[in-house]
Amino acid sequence: MTHYRPTYLEIDLDAISTNIATLKNQLNEETMIIPVVKANAYGHGAVRVVQHIEAQGLQFFAVATPDEAVELKEAGSQSEILVLGNSPHSFIPYAERHRIHLTAHSLEWIQNIPTTASPFLHIKLDTGMGRIGLQSEQELKKALRVIAQHKNWRIEGVYTHFATADEAINPHFEQQLKKFEKWLALFPERPRLVHAANSAAAIQHGGAAFSAVRFGISMYGIAASDWMKENRPFVYTPAMRLVSELVHVKQVEVGTSIGYGAYYTSAEPEWIGTLPIGYADGLLRGLKGLSVLIEDTVAPIVGKICMDQTMIKLPKEFKVGTKVVLLGSNGVHTIPAEEWAEYLRTIPYEICCQLSYRVPRIYP
Ligand code: PLP
Repeated sequence: MTHYRPTYLEIDLDAISTNIATLKNQLNEETMIIPVVKANAYGHGAVRVVQHIEAQGLQFFAVATPDEAVELKEAGSQSEILVLGNSPHSFIPYAERHRIHLTAHSLEWIQNIPTTASPFLHIKLDTGMGRIGLQSEQELKKALRVIAQHKNWRIEGVYTHFATADEAINPHFEQQLKKFEKWLALFPERPRLVHAANSAAAIQHGGAAFSAVRFGISMYGIAASDWMKENRPFVYTPAMRLVSELVHVKQVEVGTSIGYGAYYTSAEPEWIGTLPIGYADGLLRGLKGLSVLIEDTVAPIVGKICMDQTMIKLPKEFKVGTKVVLLGSNGVHTIPAEEWAEYLRTIPYEICCQLSYRVPRIYP
């Protein structure tokens, strides 16, 4: 599809491969990496990311919803895919045909699996996240008894999710890990895939790796938290660059107001550039005042960010068509997703996931 607006997300697929290889070097050889490609691969474009990783030989992915799994299958993926969230039972026939694994997250959900079905199941244990998963040893024992009555229900995996893996070692993490290990002993035989670690746990806590790790945010070169940014043993390469360009440049008189609410007024004659990107693209209004990169210098966003356009104060005259980097590197400076997150008092996950459908992803 042709895109006429010069605003795009440039995705460096090789950076993603490098980040997988970096993690692989840290793990035991037998530990499998499950790339987590939910939320459109954290905004990077799930279909292309999966195709690229499959070409490297990885054949097991995780998504959040059944529809995300269907998107990958319809794009031709032959890999196994685990749906981390709830799937309705009506999805089981499709999942069976396409080797999509489902999360068995409550006794009720397990009891309602049609007896004639042959699902691939991962038993989810809630060891302290409080979101989904079996709650107690009793529940797990009952679930295992129900499953054992159905020869065609296959337990492919068992997993849990940590609530505090991205912080300094913390008793909650240790308790979750202990509980998981204790509950694992209740399985008559260990499922093929036993997994607990997300990026932070895989990077920080080798002992939590089991037979697979679920690698999300750091696969995209982004730190899970401030603490991880300061303490990670390896630097991961960011895979995303948000680029736009000047479509309108003008010099304004002293006292000229810029943007909705006339919130910003020029204090001197100033060069103002307009970019064709706004909050409908994911450049959130709270980012006003943040600097963007233009050639070897920076330029602050002035006035309120509009839905589709944004004004920046240029240090000098620049030509219409000059590239501007809003996230990522321009070779001289870098604006990481972590910087947007800090500015907006949120987490970097939210930054990459909310870059909207309107911004084309390009894969140079
Ligand atoms: N596993 C589950 C169940 C998740 O919900 C997530 C993400 O939120 C991940 C793994 C990946 O975590 P991360 O992106 O921190 O690596």
